[in-house]
Amino acid sequence: MSDSAAQKPTVEAEQPLTHTPSQRYLSTRGGDYGLSFEEVVLKGLAQDGGLFIPEEIPSLPHDWQTSWKDLSFSELAFELLSLYISPSEIPPADLKSIISKSYSTFRAGDTTPLVPLQAADNLYLLELFHGPTFAFKDVALQLLGNLFEYFLVRRNKGKEGKERHHLTVVGATSGDTGSAAIYGLRGKKDVSLFILHPNGKVSPIQEAQMTTVLDANVHNLAVEGTFDDCQDTVKALFSDPEINSTLNLGAVNSINWARILAQTTYYFHSYFSLLRSLPSPNITPQIRFIVPTGNFGDILAGYFAKRMGLPAEKLVIATNENDILDRFWRTGQYSKKPVHGLKAEGGVPADGVKAHVDGVKETLSPAMDILVSSNFERLLWFLAYEFAAGAKMDEEWNKKQAGQEVESWLKALKTSGGFGVHTEILDSAKRDFESERVSDAQTLETIQKFYNASQKYILDPHSAIGVAASLRSIARTDKKTHHISLATAHPAKFAGAVMMALSDDEAFSFDTVLPEEFVGLEKKERRVITVEKGVGWEGIRKIVTDEVEKELAGSW
Ligand SMILES: *Cc1c(COP(=O)(O)O)cnc(C)c1O
Repeated sequence: MSDSAAQKPTVEAEQPLTHTPSQRYLSTRGGDYGLSFEEVVLKGLAQDGGLFIPEEIPSLPHDWQTSWKDLSFSELAFELLSLYISPSEIPPADLKSIISKSYSTFRAGDTTPLVPLQAADNLYLLELFHGPTFAFKDVALQLLGNLFEYFLVRRNKGKEGKERHHLTVVGATSGDTGSAAIYGLRGKKDVSLFILHPNGKVSPIQEAQMTTVLDANVHNLAVEGTFDDCQDTVKALFSDPEINSTLNLGAVNSINWARILAQTTYYFHSYFSLLRSLPSPNITPQIRFIVPTGNFGDILAGYFAKRMGLPAEKLVIATNENDILDRFWRTGQYSKKPVHGLKAEGGVPADGVKAHVDGVKETLSPAMDILVSSNFERLLWFLAYEFAAGAKMDEEWNKKQAGQEVESWLKALKTSGGFGVHTEILDSAKRDFESERVSDAQTLETIQKFYNASQKYILDPHSAIGVAASLRSIARTDKKTHHISLATAHPAKFAGAVMMALSDDEAFSFDTVLPEEFVGLEKKERRVITVEKGVGWEGIRKIVTDEVEKELAGSW
């Protein structure tokens, strides 16, 4: 990973101290301490391969329940982000305007509305898909794009032409991340964005969403090959000295800390929405959040919210058939284990299930098709830290132990495909989390069930996984427990699965699902570079450097 994108922090040494202590970041593998927010946002990944986490989880102001209860989404985001970003790094007025710009692109007045789904069971859906690309990743990537822009504008003040710090963001996508990143970064000064997708292998809507963005700084590469080929190319570029000597590479994948932070807001926002909807708002009900999970980013934001003091009784992980997390919570073993019935070479096994070579299974919820969950490493650090704290040594020792433990687990994952944790660690993971695994068949059943309910709600396959897990949780908890199930995408984005579930229903027509923004999208002008099979990562490197050069020549 490029390191040049994050030079010295721009914090001025002589800033007056405010009441907020300065917030610093460390790497989960123990190699980095004391980094600024700007550094962790621009770097993405730590030099030792670890992920960045705050050195302290801040606690909420003592009167948060009353003073925050009527805040808008953006106001709430400002209060929360202020606990993690020192005012000397981003002055409060600037932070406010970054946030309000980021959420002005959402269609729902409430940004992330909470809607009742099955009132008799106190089941609610938290709709996170009202941003520009109709998926929950917009909540984080709209903010990340504006943070990149803010830091670059500041670094480039008074600089001209080649002196300017230019960031080249490269990412691979199977659909959702790519479109959300494109809408987050389009038109941003001093940033070029390259998104690689496997040609013909992303949903038609997602392909149209990505390639119809015509801003000069957005470059779509349709690569002949699989998603893994795209990801391998991105990895090769990040570790290539040649491109790193000419361009500052940046990342937008879900390991960026700013993405996690941005997502904490809707946990608080939905909590207050729920309280407002209850007949006696002074009684805090027992609340569970249920989260369709892939890379563990969305639910990790819930963990931070809970640790800060949000009264959530449990966070429920809902996986699809790529169930490494569910297996961990059941056994304490985190292991890649090949999916049953796959040929070693991948491709199409006898039972007709398509799979990648590495054992990821293709399901109806592709945004959750992962072999390992990258953000899980952040939770592992906190679990290891708590375990170390049992030894009653000092703070510094605990942190060092945690870093070493994470380092050795991740090494075992790489070399032997998995690792197990101490039962005490598993028990402490179970205090905050439960887990459920939902199959494709159960996903389809759930879509059908809620379409046939009186409300006729159409769930997307990812949201349906959350709802299926919610129903299981409802069946085993106290009747008074309130369940908030996170809805991560609009059904129109995953037409294939929705049609599979509902097309037998005479009354169903997909046109009723399609938002006006998608109508005619496939006929719009597109800009995309097709990358033929033999081009390889070095050929792609040339495309990237040439395109950046052309783009910069055009802008001066
Ligand atoms: C990315 C994504 C998820 C998974 O979120 P993680 O943060 O990776 O756990 C779930 N649903 C949809 C629609 C997504 O795009």
